[in-house]
Amino acid sequence: MDGVTRELIEAAIGDKGTGNAEVVRELEDGFAQLTGAVYGLAVSSGTAALICALHAVGVRPGTRVAVSALAPAMTGLAITALGAEPVFLDCAGSGSFGLDPDAAERAAERGIAAAVPVPMWGYWDEQPEALAALRARGVPIVVDGAQAPFLRLAGHGLLAAVDVVCLSLHGRKPFKAGEGGVCLTDDDALAEKMLAARSFGQGAAFSGTRIDPTGPFAVHAGANFKINALGAAWCLAQVREAAALRERFEARRAVALAALDATGVAWSEAALGKDVTEHGRYGITALCQSPADAARMAGALTATGAEVDTSRYAYAPMYTAPYFTRWTRTCPAAEDFAARAVAARLEAFPEHTN
Ligand SMILES: *Cc1c(COP(=O)(O)O)cnc(C)c1O
Repeated sequence: MDGVTRELIEAAIGDKGTGNAEVVRELEDGFAQLTGAVYGLAVSSGTAALICALHAVGVRPGTRVAVSALAPAMTGLAITALGAEPVFLDCAGSGSFGLDPDAAERAAERGIAAAVPVPMWGYWDEQPEALAALRARGVPIVVDGAQAPFLRLAGHGLLAAVDVVCLSLHGRKPFKAGEGGVCLTDDDALAEKMLAARSFGQGAAFSGTRIDPTGPFAVHAGANFKINALGAAWCLAQVREAAALRERFEARRAVALAALDATGVAWSEAALGKDVTEHGRYGITALCQSPADAARMAGALTATGAEVDTSRYAYAPMYTAPYFTRWTRTCPAAEDFAARAVAARLEAFPEHTN
């Protein structure tokens, strides 16, 4: 452990290790600066970030929430944890993790409390007009950016196009707290509501761009979704070295690309929107010509020691998981994509192949 990390962890322990420790506020400032968000709120997990964000935008028991069918079960479980029902949206085409604009429009017509695009493995490919149309109808957009902490868009950026971006700081994600998450927003009212949801229903005190819990508990609905300050301290050390982390992921991507090419299986990469200025950087997704080719590629990669998503053969739309079959529906583009895709974390490729 380096000296900076040790010092931050000691400071966290000196502050009793709780979510109210100063290192947590510094982590929040760090993520706000890194992403250009006005507010960053640290929480106990990526799941907690989604729960706080969805609650803040008005998701309540019995409401419906549109979500990418290609998202992992974790995204859907955050929706059902609030008592809401997932509405699975197909992807925009085989090779795109973006939402099908027509499917989103149809869901909005039937009434949804929020829409959740999910840039899987770091690939953002949403149609700006489709997002704008949803918001014009009053549908808030919460991005599950758990796999895309580096994702950046041209112009006014991601937070200009959506309401909240949620990150995960899980130990397998690029920024690691062990367990942890962040809610990012530019909106004062949403920041205040997410803080209440996280911190026992407390009110918020704003000072500059900083937001702190203040006053009695249970002024609003809420619970304890605060981050452990020891994990926050570890993560803060990484955020301070974000430029180096970005370069490391850039190098890992070169390793991953070479490993995919070395399999000899023809592939093309998942789509990235024209407005993307930086990939989310978590992983790589290769689209093969057939499910058999995808199986051959996964086998060849596994043989090199790469930890390819071992559940690849089960990589299927979220609604195929047992719990979600009660809301089952057909998303043909997502099913085709999942059957022909090989996906892996950039950190899964052995370092020595560099
Ligand atoms: C990891 C992940 C989550 C869950 O995050 P936790 O921090 O483990 O709760 C949610 N959505 C996506 C897309 C993820 O990759």
